Amino acid sequence: MDAEHYRLRDFLTRTAQPYEWHEAGTAEAETLLDGLGLVDAALPVLVDGDRNLTGATVESVARAWGGLQPPQRVHYDFVIIGAGPAGLAAAVYAASDGVSTMVSDRDVPGGQASYTAMIENFFGFPDGIGGAELARLAGRQAERFGAELLLLHGVKGSKMNRHDGPMELILDDDSVVTASVVLAATGMDWRRLDLPGIDELVGHGVYYGAGRSEAAQCAGQSVVVVGAGNSAGQAVLNFGNATARVTMLVRGDRLEKTMSAYLIDRIRQHPLIDVHLATQLTDLHPNGDAISGVTFADASGRAETRPVDGVFLCIGGQPHTNWCSREHVATDRAGYILTGQDLLVDGNAPECWPLERDPFPLETSRVGLFAAGDVRHGSTKRVAAAVGEGSMVASLIFSRLAELGVTY
Ligand SMILES: Cc1cc2nc3c(=O)[nH]c(=O)nc-3n(C[C@H](O)[C@H](O)[C@H](O)COP(=O)(O)OP(=O)(O)OC[C@H]3O[C@@H](n4cnc5c(N)ncnc54)[C@H](O)[C@@H]3O)c2cc1C
Repeated sequence: MDAEHYRLRDFLTRTAQPYEWHEAGTAEAETLLDGLGLVDAALPVLVDGDRNLTGATVESVARAWGGLQPPQRVHYDFVIIGAGPAGLAAAVYAASDGVSTMVSDRDVPGGQASYTAMIENFFGFPDGIGGAELARLAGRQAERFGAELLLLHGVKGSKMNRHDGPMELILDDDSVVTASVVLAATGMDWRRLDLPGIDELVGHGVYYGAGRSEAAQCAGQSVVVVGAGNSAGQAVLNFGNATARVTMLVRGDRLEKTMSAYLIDRIRQHPLIDVHLATQLTDLHPNGDAISGVTFADASGRAETRPVDGVFLCIGGQPHTNWCSREHVATDRAGYILTGQDLLVDGNAPECWPLERDPFPLETSRVGLFAAGDVRHGSTKRVAAAVGEGSMVASLIFSRLAELGVTY
């Protein structure tokens, strides 16, 4: 599948938008296009009620649906960078307290949670809830309380050099907004695998991450999933449950080191999932421009080559904190942001800290800049934890706003 088409389908899935997908050339697609008089139209065609978008892209669909709006104000009391669970929770609670709030995300809302078909351990949902659905509901709730949600509209730069005034944020479209308080809820990015030819195959049978839409498309096929974290565990179960034959490649010698027990139990019981421990993917074999096979090798160097229809790389992430060194925001060695008590050295605030008081809980080494969720040092890497931290920040900002003379 064309990488741009994959992106569009992924967008629809991760915004919890119900849809039917017909591959070009199938009888269903031909009949549909014929009926609409769009046989020669640029693909993909998105049919939405009586509106048809030809040559549809994520951006053109988002624009048609009223997204991609620029910010409505030049100043907000609270700007949240990242609309994952942490950012959305902060938006819901801050906006519900009447704070002027804007949330920016360079992607769709939901962050990593939007990739998971079912969050089974989220408070209050005994039967689980889809990650994309949770994000959609939270986004709607935040907007209902008056928060502004900017999708596909990230923050690409900042000026945070003053501690007694607003911070400046530069958005992807070069517009600039200022904020009294900022929350970095930027989460993590997938870690990349370094294999010859991999970049050409990404989007053509090789994918970073794996969502439920891929699982449904892979029924009866052979797939390889690389990784050993909860995201990899969730992915192999999605594929297995969709009747794909799954080869799971794990670099370590035990799943228990990195994966929740409930996932391990289900994987072990699943007849279609074959787990290879202490094994690494060594080669990708293309046929034309798509993947057709892989070679993997165990710790003794014994290699095996298998035909595959898809390879899904779920090898964890790196915190999205490249910008921290530019803004002198302290991180740990892995790049996760230090906050609150973690910043204290021998009980004292770091030298760069300009105020008499110590940093608030979840406040970074930059006054008025908070961090929550997976991007934060010591975070639990769970949806509920991210939501909890985001909601905490929404209440902590009042102390900082009061210092700036902003009262609600
Ligand atoms: C497949 C999968 C399954 C999972 N299953 C579960 C589960 O069952 N239960 C559970 O509790 N947890 C689960 N997790 C973990 C959980 O999803 C994460 O812990 C949670 O999403 C973290 O939330 P967050 O808001 O901190 O960060 P993220 O979810 O990573 O969101 C960060 C957001 O910030 C945005 N962003 C980054 N940089 C910028 C920028 N410069 N400008 C604007 N936006 C930016 C990103 O686009 C992203 O939307 C799963 C994770 C994955 C990947």
